[in-house]
Amino acid sequence: MTKAPSATDLACALIQCPSVTPKEAGVLAYLERQLSPFGFEIHRPVFSEPGYPDVENMFAKITGGDGPHLAFAGHVDVVPAGDETLWTLPPFSGAVKDGLLHGRGAADMKGGVAAFVAATLRYVEAHGEPKGTVSFVLTGDEEGPAKNGTVKLMQWAAERGEQFSDSIVGEPTNPNQMGDMIKVGRRGSQSGTLTVSGKQGHVAYPHLASNPVPVLARLVEQISAEVLDHGTDFFQPSNLEFISMDVGNETWNLIPKSASARFNVRFNDLWNAEKLEAFVLEHARKHLPDDAFTLSLTLEDDGSEAFLTRSESLIGRFSKAVEAITGRTPELSTGGGTSDARFIKNYCPVIEFGLVGQTMHMIDEHVAVADLEQLADIYYEFMLQYFER
Ligand SMILES: [Zn+2]
Repeated sequence: MTKAPSATDLACALIQCPSVTPKEAGVLAYLERQLSPFGFEIHRPVFSEPGYPDVENMFAKITGGDGPHLAFAGHVDVVPAGDETLWTLPPFSGAVKDGLLHGRGAADMKGGVAAFVAATLRYVEAHGEPKGTVSFVLTGDEEGPAKNGTVKLMQWAAERGEQFSDSIVGEPTNPNQMGDMIKVGRRGSQSGTLTVSGKQGHVAYPHLASNPVPVLARLVEQISAEVLDHGTDFFQPSNLEFISMDVGNETWNLIPKSASARFNVRFNDLWNAEKLEAFVLEHARKHLPDDAFTLSLTLEDDGSEAFLTRSESLIGRFSKAVEAITGRTPELSTGGGTSDARFIKNYCPVIEFGLVGQTMHMIDEHVAVADLEQLADIYYEFMLQYFER
């Protein structure tokens, strides 16, 4: 049988493919060549959406009969390198220097993908096919619009009859060192625009107009001061942030008819889009001075729900694997931004654990080779327990 590659060798090769969203750049072709000799069934569906670039994705699986289906999920696309002359080593070199692996995607998240692929191949090499199924759900559209990626890939797999038992996303979750943190959920995100309309008029005759600008300014101040909640056992308090106020008035002598303020809410599992809409409208109405003004609120349609994974068997077993390899007890967290786990949560329990995220998206992105190999060891240890060898 072909020998299983190390996580570091895999990660180097993945980084050398400049797969800036939405480019495949040979990264999936490389993985296919690695997986095929081990008996994986491999699909590379391309998804389309009007107005967005087509994106190639990969679903690969290996089955050894009845048993649980563990899906490792992640993305092989990366953000652009930016000004390449600012990098100490070229961004797509995949070079190892002084114990560090350098390059765009080392942390976010070709390192994570390399670690779970290496762990799985090591498992198959040592024990044969798992008693159950291991699959890789890999997208090339996480850093981009995320329209032609995990959301469609999960749907595609489900339509083919795949039933997932558990999923691990290999995003970088550790703030400082390996073993810090498992993400067991994520806050939701919702953007919206609040508009106050009054009556347009001449600035010299303000009594004939109703100026929405000071009204909107007061609403922004007052809504910003409202407390949404005080957090829950697993979530920090929800927060609404106004991020822009827009009137678009290019003249100096005109009182505008309307003024808008845009906001984003990061919210816990006490909220959803409907409740947030009602909350903003209620507090805006409360502070609206008189019926010379009207309100409207629109929500963007790319919001995501908050979710919390409650599977003790997945979280408990994975924590044990982290402890066994790092000697540290990971914190269970729901902090940070959104991730593709939001597209997986409706199919099976999902957690996230990967590398140390400190340099993600930065110039000179890098990870410690020792961390990379330790991550592969953690995934391997988890698989030993999961498939009960
Ligand atoms: Zn990522």
